[in-house]
Amino acid sequence: MGKLSDISIRYVKGVGPKREKVFNKLGVCSIEDLLYYFPRRYEDRTKFIPISALEEGREQTIKARVLVSADRRSFRRRGFSITEALVEDATGRLSCVWFNQPYLKAYLRPGTEVILYGKIERYSGKLQMNAPEFEVVSGESEGSLNSGRIVPVYSLPQGLGQRSFRKMIRMALDKYLSQVIDFMPFDVKRNHKLLDLAQSILNIHFPENDGLQKDAYARLAFEEFLFFQLPLILRKQKRKEKAGIAHKVEGRLLNDFLAKLPFELTEGQKTVIAEIKADMAKPEAMQRLLQGDVGSGKTVVAAGACMIAIQGGFQAAIMAPTEILSRQHFEKINSQLSGLRSQRNKIKVGLLTSSGLRKQKDKMIRDIKEGKVDLVIGTHALLEENVQFKSLGLAVIDEQHKFGVGQRALLPAKGKNPDILIMTATPIPRTLAITLYGDLDVSVIRHLPPGRGRIKTLYFTREKQAQAYAIAKEQMAAGNQAYIVYPVIEESYALDIAGAEKMYEQFKKGEFRQFRLGLIHGRMKHDEQEAVMLKFKNKELDALVSTTVLEVGIDVPSATCMIVEHAERFGLSQLHQLRGRVGRGAIESFCVLVSGAVTETSRARMLAMASYSDGFRIAEEDLRIRGPGEYFGSRQHGLTGLRIANPLTQLQLLKSAREEAVNIVAQDPGLGSRQNVLLKEKLLQRFPEYEKVMVVG
Ligand code: ADP
Ligand code: MG
Repeated sequence: MGKLSDISIRYVKGVGPKREKVFNKLGVCSIEDLLYYFPRRYEDRTKFIPISALEEGREQTIKARVLVSADRRSFRRRGFSITEALVEDATGRLSCVWFNQPYLKAYLRPGTEVILYGKIERYSGKLQMNAPEFEVVSGESEGSLNSGRIVPVYSLPQGLGQRSFRKMIRMALDKYLSQVIDFMPFDVKRNHKLLDLAQSILNIHFPENDGLQKDAYARLAFEEFLFFQLPLILRKQKRKEKAGIAHKVEGRLLNDFLAKLPFELTEGQKTVIAEIKADMAKPEAMQRLLQGDVGSGKTVVAAGACMIAIQGGFQAAIMAPTEILSRQHFEKINSQLSGLRSQRNKIKVGLLTSSGLRKQKDKMIRDIKEGKVDLVIGTHALLEENVQFKSLGLAVIDEQHKFGVGQRALLPAKGKNPDILIMTATPIPRTLAITLYGDLDVSVIRHLPPGRGRIKTLYFTREKQAQAYAIAKEQMAAGNQAYIVYPVIEESYALDIAGAEKMYEQFKKGEFRQFRLGLIHGRMKHDEQEAVMLKFKNKELDALVSTTVLEVGIDVPSATCMIVEHAERFGLSQLHQLRGRVGRGAIESFCVLVSGAVTETSRARMLAMASYSDGFRIAEEDLRIRGPGEYFGSRQHGLTGLRIANPLTQLQLLKSAREEAVNIVAQDPGLGSRQNVLLKEKLLQRFPEYEKVMVVG
């Protein structure tokens, strides 16, 4: 009997090569993946509504008998067919309509009893059900998947219907559920009254009743939280066992570096540097998270920490998520170091990204290994196996949410228990941070440096588009620069959103023809992106039309205007990050949000952006307005592995999973004992990258 994680979904009836590909794209390859593809929501179809009591605009379930059914061609659209059935229950009659599914008629013979579920709409004055899902009532209603029960609804790609997916899940359950082995240690199950795994999987898909659905959910969410916490706790434990580096925190290099900065540090920056000094002086490894808004000046703090490591003879590394960001750190830190004339030749700063000439990269890698480079700044390229340090004393990880939990552990693994500083501009509310980053100490820079121009945030509806352009023109005419940001690259007809590419072409010939425009988007090659960014930075361009690649983009003090088109399509935190690209200089800047949507929620969100400038405040608003599902669903926080578990609404469950993780690790640090064998196996199977976490720490 093979493991369910090794059996391909092709063994499920109904899955051919074509569907297999669709599933693989969703990350569903094995039977286990399929069984863990949980519903997005449920519809309670256990209660039938009498036809006479149906309400327009709602999705409702009825049980009725077919009176007549017929196919006809559409008058309005050629090649379009309509299937209509008139059904009846004891209280009335209702017409049901389907488009382009002529084969349905065969199921809708007069006299057949059916359960129908769909949206009630009014058409020519009468109620009807549009494209309902239906099920023919057979003798035994058991085994019914689509009606008369709590029905699962999945997030599915186009071309795959709910009904056929439910059927596939049912087949997979019938064939393989008996092979599901519960890996959760017995004690854990008993302590937390967890439902058995097979029972949980069955009831998360096809809940027998509300109670079982809730138990199934709790069990599976607990599982996700446990797998989320275990590596954190394991890593913390491992690091405690190992000696860290007691860095030389008082020294000339740091003092000179700070003294020669062209600005006064803010109080927040000073406090954080003091915290970092205290941590780095200790013989244990520092594990600190630094939260601070875009532009709050985290980079200079990180550079200071690097000076501490370097003055004691160690190397330091800073890893950033994109090439552009790495390069910017590289340039900024180099220029900050240029004030240190006497030491300048002694500190060598290197840049390592995946682009560039092989020869140069090889040389950089050699220099890192031989200790000729003191400070290395780079992208994921730093994580490659052949990158080895002579003596890595400090690992700085910027914008941690762009890296997975396992991934971010790989950089420190290249040293002997080095100090770690993690930086993020995506703030998360305090209560959560404590649990999510429980293995880290948290520092916050709450205020921006003084002397920054104010950012005025305006919210315009689509009708006022011209005013938004006028502001941009005014700024450019005064010698400043502007960003115009779009959510997608190409025009998407379905969503009616003008993409960056198309608008760029239009602007060049029309609205902005007297200005120099640049275009940048994520599908351009990295060096192309870079070239355009550079031109903008050097003021060879007046405006940059772009997609969200700007989000972690560049620092251009004379960029004073940003227009965000279709602003309702962005998350608040994302908008806030975008906005941080202007207002970097001393001049007043403008952020103009243009939104065509008029829903209450999107209005509230736009107004929140206009009223708040503090990233923490905005994160809280974002959570409050969008709800935790979408907020965390956007994967802004690197909470990989959390699919159904929600840290906000299940804080209690998260806490108990965390306590349990602490418990397990305390009793069995290597997860080697008999009751934990399966647990460990499952953990490594789901998150192979933890292998290194557990071994190296
Ligand atoms: P973050 O990484 O937090 O987004 P940066 O470190 O890139 O912010 O800082 C943004 C800009 O502010 C940089 O140009 C930096 O040199 C400058 N800066 C940092 N600290 C100060 C300060 N205390 N006073 C004035 N300018 C500062
Ligand atoms: Mg930064």
